[in-house]
Amino acid sequence: MTRGEGTFGGTWQGEGSRLGTWTMGVRVYGCNLHCGLLKGSGVRPDGCDTAHTWYEQDYPRQEWAYEASVDQVLAELERRMQPRLRRGGTGMVFVTGGEPLVQEAAVGQLLRACRERGWRTQIATNDTLPPSRLGGPDCWPDDFNVSPKLATGINRGADPASKRIRPKAIAELLATRRAVWKFVAADVDNLDEIDWWIERFGLPIDNVWVMPEGTSTAGLTAHTQQLAEAVLARGLNLTTRLHILVWGAERGR
Ligand code: SF4
Repeated sequence: MTRGEGTFGGTWQGEGSRLGTWTMGVRVYGCNLHCGLLKGSGVRPDGCDTAHTWYEQDYPRQEWAYEASVDQVLAELERRMQPRLRRGGTGMVFVTGGEPLVQEAAVGQLLRACRERGWRTQIATNDTLPPSRLGGPDCWPDDFNVSPKLATGINRGADPASKRIRPKAIAELLATRRAVWKFVAADVDNLDEIDWWIERFGLPIDNVWVMPEGTSTAGLTAHTQQLAEAVLARGLNLTTRLHILVWGAERGR
């Protein structure tokens, strides 16, 4: 498989339904969306924070993409997992990107191998590619951590609605009964768009999290305080970005 960087962790899952869970990560290279890409002038500072996994113009592939076999990745993860396993714990692996489902064969194989070892798995996905790409349920993660891209959010018009909103993928993710949704929001206007997604696709509200935007403690705190009352009033879950609070924007944590 092609990675956007080496494996990382132990760390904590920093966002969403498993916030604070001790985990290892794998960052997969490549994405089918281009959040925050401006025509001819790169990615906006408030756009994709992992543009090194897909924007070759600023991040040449030969410098930012790393080949490794699934067996090599598993060996690295097992080594990193030792502090947890030595104490009788269960390992957890978080597969992120880029968009992991663009490398469906290798990622499906990795998830199945993790399952065979008894490790929990989560995969981040942007809600545009159906999970059946991975293979059958034995190649699925325990949780799909689904993050749709809002027109008013991080994508900011870089991709048309027809690329961002894929009803077939959403229906398949719902049918797995393993999906949780995480919407990034910077202001109350974003919450109206989130409500549209919930109503339009019948997303189960118990499995929907709002995550305030922010790549610094100050920015994250400001957006959290700005959104908190409105998120509460709409009956939605709220998550923070734990790794930003602990390490700021440091890569690989
Ligand atoms: S879907 Fe995710 S990885 Fe892809 S461009 Fe958007 S924010 Fe970046």
